[in-house]
Amino acid sequence: MTARIIDGKAIAAELRTRVAAEVQRLRAEHGLEPGLAVVLVGENPASAVYVRSKAKQTVEAGMRSFDHRLPDSASENDLLALVAKLNADPAVHGILVQLPLPKQIDGQKVLNAIDPAKDVDGFHPMNAGRLATGLSALVPCTPLGCVMLAKTVHRSLEGMNAVIVGRSNIVGKPLIQLLLNENATVTVAHSKTRDLPEVCRRADILFAAVGRPEMVRGDWIKPGATVIDVGINRVATAEGKSRIVGDVAFAEAAEIAGAITPVPGGVGPMTIACLLVNTVRAACVINRLAAPPV
Ligand code: NAP
Repeated sequence: MTARIIDGKAIAAELRTRVAAEVQRLRAEHGLEPGLAVVLVGENPASAVYVRSKAKQTVEAGMRSFDHRLPDSASENDLLALVAKLNADPAVHGILVQLPLPKQIDGQKVLNAIDPAKDVDGFHPMNAGRLATGLSALVPCTPLGCVMLAKTVHRSLEGMNAVIVGRSNIVGKPLIQLLLNENATVTVAHSKTRDLPEVCRRADILFAAVGRPEMVRGDWIKPGATVIDVGINRVATAEGKSRIVGDVAFAEAAEIAGAITPVPGGVGPMTIACLLVNTVRAACVINRLAAPPV
């Protein structure tokens, strides 16, 4: 194996430590206690795990965590009423509605109802538009974490060829803008892209956000490139159990790449750490304080 492993777990832990220090400072200097409300609708086991971890890390960073559960049968109006209550609650600076939502609820309608100032997932069209037009915005946590990880390898991304595979609203699209802000040259590939391996081989930095287990092969990678694997895919093992793999064939890619994120332990931990960063930022902006340097 030649690639340097980008240790997302350790980098996220350092970021959480910086967030905790900032939270302490805000409490001491301004009496401000950032608060994050997480809403879970239904019993999706993976979502329940994410929500637990978010609440735990929020409390560990010294912030207030508000846990809201609605049954699987909750109506769209039930959820919209809860969002309205959280929008109005001065103790809540960040609101996160865990996706996916049950079928009877229009997810976009719910995301649009969140106060953009408290939209710590950065999914509200107002924040997406602000990011796209270069204004300050709450930025989706996963792409934010991806760029932070890339910058642990490269001090500057300026002029680098960045290829993103995937164009979802939550990862691929905001990543385009964040990379443009870093002055990278950005190419976006998707399911209709022709000769994807060739497109990937042009990347100095390759971001895979596809949702297809180990789709990106070792020979799709330019020797020495940095590979950031966003994918989280559960696959069955020969022993009848399951394990998590990324969108990149890790063992093959690590022979060719210069640096690579593992799955698990790469982008995943950064996503939650960036959620804490966004909550602190939201609390500062709402209270007309300068945004923290974390
Ligand atoms: P998504 O909404 O399903 O989008 C997938 C994207 O991949 C789409 O743009 C799709 O293209 C493209 N795609 C699908 N098949 C392809 C193919 N054969 N060749 C090229 N492109 C293809 O997924 P997502 O929400 O962005 O998530 C992507 C992955 O990241 C998933 O594994 C998810 O679990 C993971 N994820 C991880 C985190 C984290 O914290 N680590 C956070 C979010 C997501 P079209 O647009 O043409 O359909």
